[in-house]
Amino acid sequence: MANEQNSLFDTDPQPWNLDDQDDWLAARIAFAEQPYGPYDYSIPAHLESAVKAGVRIEVPLGRSNRKMTGYCIDIIGPFHKLAASVNPGRMKPISRVVDDTPLITPALLKLAHWISEYYVCELGIVIETIIPAGVRNDSGTREMLFISLADDVRDNFDAHRLTPLQKTILQTLASSNQDWTPRELGETVGCTQGPISTLRRRGLIVTTSRRVQQKTHEIRAEQRVANFQLNAEQQSAYDAIEKHIDADSHRTFLLRGITGSGKTEVYIQAIQKVVEHGRQAIVLVPEISLTPQTRQRFRARFDHVAVLHSHLTSAQRAWHWKQIAAGKVQVIIGARSAIFAPTRRLGLIVLDEEHDGSFKQDKAPRYHARDVANWRAANENVPLVLGSATPGLESWQRAKTGDYELLPLEKRVLDRPLPDVATIDLRVDFGGRKRFSPISQKLRQEINTAISDGGQVILLLNRRGFSTRIQCPGCGHVEYCPDCSIPLTHHMKGSKAVCHYCDHTIPEPRVCPDCGNPAMKFSGLGTQRLEQEVQKLFDVPIMRMDTDTMRKPGSHEKALAQFRAGDIKILLGTQMIAKGLDFPNVTLVGVINADTALHLPDFRAAERSFGLVTQVAGRTGRGEKGGRVLVQTFNPDNKTIIAATRHDYVGFADAELPVREEFAYPPFGHLARIVVKSPIQSKAEQMSEHIAESLNVAAEDLQTPVEVLGPSVAPAEKLRGFYRFHMLIGTTTAGVLQPVIVRAKTKIKPIDDVQWMVDIDPQDML
Ligand code: ADP
Ligand code: ZN
Repeated sequence: MANEQNSLFDTDPQPWNLDDQDDWLAARIAFAEQPYGPYDYSIPAHLESAVKAGVRIEVPLGRSNRKMTGYCIDIIGPFHKLAASVNPGRMKPISRVVDDTPLITPALLKLAHWISEYYVCELGIVIETIIPAGVRNDSGTREMLFISLADDVRDNFDAHRLTPLQKTILQTLASSNQDWTPRELGETVGCTQGPISTLRRRGLIVTTSRRVQQKTHEIRAEQRVANFQLNAEQQSAYDAIEKHIDADSHRTFLLRGITGSGKTEVYIQAIQKVVEHGRQAIVLVPEISLTPQTRQRFRARFDHVAVLHSHLTSAQRAWHWKQIAAGKVQVIIGARSAIFAPTRRLGLIVLDEEHDGSFKQDKAPRYHARDVANWRAANENVPLVLGSATPGLESWQRAKTGDYELLPLEKRVLDRPLPDVATIDLRVDFGGRKRFSPISQKLRQEINTAISDGGQVILLLNRRGFSTRIQCPGCGHVEYCPDCSIPLTHHMKGSKAVCHYCDHTIPEPRVCPDCGNPAMKFSGLGTQRLEQEVQKLFDVPIMRMDTDTMRKPGSHEKALAQFRAGDIKILLGTQMIAKGLDFPNVTLVGVINADTALHLPDFRAAERSFGLVTQVAGRTGRGEKGGRVLVQTFNPDNKTIIAATRHDYVGFADAELPVREEFAYPPFGHLARIVVKSPIQSKAEQMSEHIAESLNVAAEDLQTPVEVLGPSVAPAEKLRGFYRFHMLIGTTTAGVLQPVIVRAKTKIKPIDDVQWMVDIDPQDML
């Protein structure tokens, strides 16, 4: 680092005495690629007014003065400390200011600093994450010409010889402050471009060119609907939030409401209050919940709703972003990254399904939208509402200690009962039978009953593909992905075997590559095979919903619309069908195998299984017909499964928290994970040892109580051709992981062909 700094600035040194120079100004610049900086550059007088924090700036970098564009993150002067002992006399001047206006607001820039520090990620990368690509590269903008009067013409048209038409043109321009394009002007005056060109040639009018955002997006107005009368529980939750909206003060609420308790209605009415105050609200939902139903629910209550979903083009995203920045949007709904919406006056943030794993980004910066939302809400003094039927234990613990305010919704709206949940013991059901069927006798009867009573059925199986394991019964060989240490899944459609991590695909292997046995066995149950089975057993229209059938944009929405219309009787699929859907006619939910996630090597395995079963169970009993849930499991006595069948979140949490505490796992401890990968196994191992050692040394230097667990081979040993090692850094003291990692980083020497990354508060342990 220090070397880089010297080589950057020691060209063309001019001795400079700081004492005489108390009026210098410098721009601090961060880059989104190496070397990340930040570095300081002097600002020449003629660019002083153009440099602002948040604009992009082009600078000469290194000895070769190669051109590089970075973000101005600060403007500094004589009272500031320069970056890494740079002398102002040796600073190079910036070359060019790229943007007229900052791309990032001061509040978001502050947020970027926090993310950079907390997640140990370069500031430039964070800024580039916050500003959508479409905004950075002017997607959907067009260079346009605008006409205005020449300076000295306004008050003395008569000094010039003009035809009546030319005079009308000048008067039109003089009488309004509007920007005119040549075409608009021609249409308004009722003339061709001829006289306009003539005036321009004579210098009486001037044209300027400017980039303008094209409108790329029509927002359909929805039929407006009235508010529901809140029930007592909803009302007291609303009142608590409203108090903080009115007082402009920050508070984080945990709205724990069972499925169907009407959480969304509480969000909507709180947002209405925010809009009344002339402020904007951000609503974060898991990507999968950005359905037309969600959009419509909000558009039926507000005039200006921006929905930021992943199928937007970058031009459309840029357009929304500018509308938001211009203060024209009341409610922003989006997945994770919508937390960076550049609102003018933020009034409230809502995070629905706050337990959902998709709120954590799996590339740098590896932020969790919930924690970013917490920081942003505190910094901008607004309330944050976290909602879920099954909150993450991190949030639950904070509610228990009073850090968050708990708002319980214990009852479903209109006093509808929660569905009855029964388990089916697969050990008994499959014990004596020859042919394996994923649908037990009991579940089969119940499906028939539900359908003949006019209801609909949802079946959950959290594994796609046909057979999840391809094995030779002769020698035991299991077909693995050559690039990942993951068994291939057999897909019936297309007769292929696919890696679910990297999509590596081969024709289905019929013959064992090891021993030549021509009878490879396909076992393990995936959604494709379930679909085939369901088709055989029931003579009704069915639909499968998983990432294989839902690849095309819009297909998810189309499928849900068909199911809602009642054309489809049985909907089966992966966790995609478990989230937030509201179908009153669903009277039966079947969980094909509740155990799929139970035994994964991850301390959150129980929490995830509990959440999934509870969430999918909540999809039924939402209408007048009521509903029931059947859960097939090999572990009917498991306490997680039992709690899920009782809708007993508190019971689950009470049993699970002591386990977490014993091992100092979150929410009691803090974790960081470091993953090292390389195409050469020994190099990855060597680097992981070097990193672990550096961490231990840094912890000792700083006298910080952290524990480095590992390094060891990662559970997913090989992915996409990279061998992987990992280590966990754990502590029970908040805020000490980052300084240790930062200090260790300065001592870690790179090894060729090895990459490594830091994940603070990791969700993914594979
Ligand atoms: P949750 O998100 O808690 O699962 P929803 O917000 O989807 O629940 O609400 C379930 C259903 O109840 C929705 O159809 C909603 O419109 C309706 N609803 C919400 N609040 C009320 C209320 N106070 N009275 C009647 N119906 C309500
Ligand atoms: Zn693979």
